[in-house]
Amino acid sequence: MVIENMSTFVLPTEKTDDEKVEKVIIIGGGPAGFTAGLYTARAQLNPVLFTGNDIGGQVALTYEIENYPGFPDGLSGTDLAERFQKQAEKFGTRVEYDHVLELDLSQHPFTLRTQFEKTYKAESLILSMGATPRKLQVPGEAELTGRGVSYCATCDGFFFKDREVIVVGGGDSALEEAIFLTRFASKVTIVHRRDELRASKILQKRAFESEKIEFIWDTIVTSINAGDNGAVNGVTLKNVKSEAVSEFPVDGVFIFIGHIPNSQIVKDQLVLDEDGYVVTNRFGHTSVPGVFAGGEIQDHRFKQVSTSVGQGAMAAIEAEKFMAELEDKGYEALKAELLASKTLPA
Ligand code: NAP
Repeated sequence: MVIENMSTFVLPTEKTDDEKVEKVIIIGGGPAGFTAGLYTARAQLNPVLFTGNDIGGQVALTYEIENYPGFPDGLSGTDLAERFQKQAEKFGTRVEYDHVLELDLSQHPFTLRTQFEKTYKAESLILSMGATPRKLQVPGEAELTGRGVSYCATCDGFFFKDREVIVVGGGDSALEEAIFLTRFASKVTIVHRRDELRASKILQKRAFESEKIEFIWDTIVTSINAGDNGAVNGVTLKNVKSEAVSEFPVDGVFIFIGHIPNSQIVKDQLVLDEDGYVVTNRFGHTSVPGVFAGGEIQDHRFKQVSTSVGQGAMAAIEAEKFMAELEDKGYEALKAELLASKTLPA
């Protein structure tokens, strides 16, 4: 299962001195965050990085990554996530296994409050909180999460050995995870709301060639149903063209219908787009001078490990430049200059 709250697994480190002001704080420990850590640590900014509750980000939940350059044989998402962290720590990134609950961007230095009730101040921030899986929002989904409903094939596929499962969605994630699930499940049925897939051609080809994968087109799941044992035993489907309703017996429901950005803590403080993604200019600056963003928190288009890494590096390089100018000019003057340049999102 996706672990929503890992607070029982992690321990707070030493108490923070409330008066201490960090140069750079990075929020989020996925590819963008650890890359920002690597760059700002090498720039001698002594960054602190909060992992949040989903350590490693979404990449850590991916079974195999084939399209991250430099690894021609592919590698597991967990392996890649561990390498990102190790490299960032090697140069001095201080990793905190804590979750930032509140952020105050109205005053500089910026203030953060965490799950372990620690308060931090920072002269610059890099936001890399990523995104979380979108829910179907149908009856049974919430109650049966962990009892047959899953958002992570890598985590839960093993529990469905020789069972029948459905995968909901028609994008790269749905197909990639459906292909992975064929290692365990006896049959994988992809339920898609249209008759055309959004996924890349290479994944489509693999899915169509798999003997274990079948498709149900033009169809949505309207409810997820439980048996007497309180676990999933089927779904109710509706064909969106004919409106025909049917029951489909199944042991597991894997949902891959996109993501929602984890931007709640900056909701009323930064410019966000209509889907809640943080808006940045092309250099990773947000609407508040000194706050930068990289990775899926600000990217609803590319969402690749390689693009997140690049965006994390960009945000870090800009934060480094900002810190150098801050020392010379002070925050108010630098803020006025950046806002007057009209290059920040407004
Ligand atoms: P996505 O591309 O946004 O696809 C979401 C899928 O879910 C779409 O097929 C969509 O249907 C369907 N959907 C959305 N809301 C739905 C609902 N309420 N009910 C039923 N179906 C619904 O998301 P993704 O697959 O997670 O991929 C996100 C990004 O990551 C993409 O840019 C993708 O290329 C990338 N990615 C890449 C790889 C890779 O390169 N190996 C792997 C995974 C993800 P419609 O098609 O009708 O809109």
